[in-house]
Amino acid sequence: MKASQFFISTLKEAPAEAEVVSHQLMTRAGMIKKLGAGIYTYMPMGLRVIQKVERIVREEMNRSGAVEMTMPVIQPAEHWQETGRFEKMGPELLRIKDRHGRDFIVQPTSEEVVTDMARQELRSYKQLPKNFYQIQTKFRDERRPRFGLMRGREFIMKDAYSFDRDEAAAKSSYQVMAATYRRIFDRFGLTYRAVAADSGAIGGDLSEEFQVIAATGEDAIVYCPGSEYAANMEKAEALAPAGPRPAATSAMVKTPTPGKSTCADVAELLSVPLASTVKSLVLATDELNEAGEIVKSQVWLLLLRGDHDMNEVKVNKLPGLNVGFRFASLPEIEAHFGSKPGYLGPVNMKQPVKIVADREVAVMADWICGANEIDFHFTAVNWGRDLPEPDMVADIRNVVAGDSSPDGKGELVIERGIEVGHVFYLGTKYSQAMNATFLAENGKPAPFEMGCYGIGITRLPAAAVEQNHDERGMIWPDALAPFTVVICPIGMERSAEVKAAAETLYAELMADGVDVILDDRGERPGAMFADWELIGVPHRVTIGDKSLKEGQVEYQHRRDAASTKVAVAEVAGLLK
Ligand code: ATP
Ligand code: MG
Ligand code: MG
Ligand code: MG
Repeated sequence: MKASQFFISTLKEAPAEAEVVSHQLMTRAGMIKKLGAGIYTYMPMGLRVIQKVERIVREEMNRSGAVEMTMPVIQPAEHWQETGRFEKMGPELLRIKDRHGRDFIVQPTSEEVVTDMARQELRSYKQLPKNFYQIQTKFRDERRPRFGLMRGREFIMKDAYSFDRDEAAAKSSYQVMAATYRRIFDRFGLTYRAVAADSGAIGGDLSEEFQVIAATGEDAIVYCPGSEYAANMEKAEALAPAGPRPAATSAMVKTPTPGKSTCADVAELLSVPLASTVKSLVLATDELNEAGEIVKSQVWLLLLRGDHDMNEVKVNKLPGLNVGFRFASLPEIEAHFGSKPGYLGPVNMKQPVKIVADREVAVMADWICGANEIDFHFTAVNWGRDLPEPDMVADIRNVVAGDSSPDGKGELVIERGIEVGHVFYLGTKYSQAMNATFLAENGKPAPFEMGCYGIGITRLPAAAVEQNHDERGMIWPDALAPFTVVICPIGMERSAEVKAAAETLYAELMADGVDVILDDRGERPGAMFADWELIGVPHRVTIGDKSLKEGQVEYQHRRDAASTKVAVAEVAGLLK
């Protein structure tokens, strides 16, 4: 590729709304262009990276025996009604109507459609096992799309679905995928960790997330350096022993503030920039008499399941909201948790719970909350104030660094990660709901045993940048770079020698199948280098008159502090 023919459009400044470095750099490098909230155009430079990701995924999926297909992005609601997800799934599911008023959805994932296909096409156990996958556009109306490609609304996912004759076969299909994912993530050249994830109602341990390690990750992961133990925080907490923790090891939340209930406390508290996933909300409600005195303080621990749309919380109708524990008074709480007066320590919870704290919660003036009991709710809920540090909001957990590992083999370490892949054993959840059966060896119909396996194709480049960048820009691993080599000739228009050397090297690398770009735009060296450092091409060859006279060119890896002189005759060999 020649830069003059390609499209390169770099910016000095990142958009103000870009909070994380991958969003800033990918925008500045002209890789992505925002069209709307969570909706991006993949510009030529960005698309090259996405295609590299897709290629690795496709090669390894094919190698594993999975077969590629493509399912519709727009899907009739009927199938989603069969599993109940049309009604049950929250507002993340984009529902649309056609001109006849018929309901459709935009696929956030495709279990229903693939199960419908399988029940028609896979009639006999002899056709099993099968694993179908697609690499395609998904849409999730995320409550808070942000961080560029990291949490988009429209994004590309590789989603695969396995169909097996029985549980044992399904579990072995799962293991094939778990191994395939390791190969895929090894090939990306990123530091990642496979962690046990909660398999929800299905139970068992057959769910793993693949997390790219990055300080800015939204997820907390827990592992033991001395053993194989690794889990995401939800999973780790679900398994953690119950009982109050010693106060010193955990964040403390002060509750409640006697006096007025205000949501301003919430607003203040929630001006936290990142990493603000909390597991529970501790809310205090004060019952006041006519004189404005507190007659009763109650503290509520709200446990929210999954991604919860806070705007959905309404009077008497709290979809997905569970009040885990309800205590009549502070002393009772103190008795239960053994905390100091006025403080509530982190609470041990049996269930994985998650609420995403962010500024949008603050718009809920006069929040009304209540139990899953009709006519039992409180108005003007007050968030316990005087939280020590906003950061601590993220750390109200009952698993903390230094805890001993469940396998007893050492202390736990907590680090942050970005979920880029997820493998999941599904059992017969979908096949039973959709009556998807095949004829088993005994001649009787049996429901398919299924698994599903996702990779965030467009999230992956963002995660790669979060992990690999410096003050000058992105640093791509070779496998993902938009171009692996850039040739930067200095003064190509003036010097016939430079032009000839650049063209010769370019032709030679092209012939060898190296993904090379020749920067023939005629930019000045400073601007040219700045562009390629921002774009993060890993290998750069600079060709200038001076060194060329000595039969040399300059080679520099994106991570090197300075360039190295290499003989013209040797440089191509170095880059193949
Ligand atoms: P998250 O916890 O980040 O919301 P998820 O668990 O909802 O992700 P899955 O349903 O497991 O996501 O989907 C498979 C993969 O798709 C994820 O592992 C992730 O890499 C990717 N993905 C999910 N949501 C998004 C999104 N909004 N933008 C980009 N990629 C996404
Ligand atoms: Mg999600
Ligand atoms: Mg997740
Ligand atoms: Mg997931």
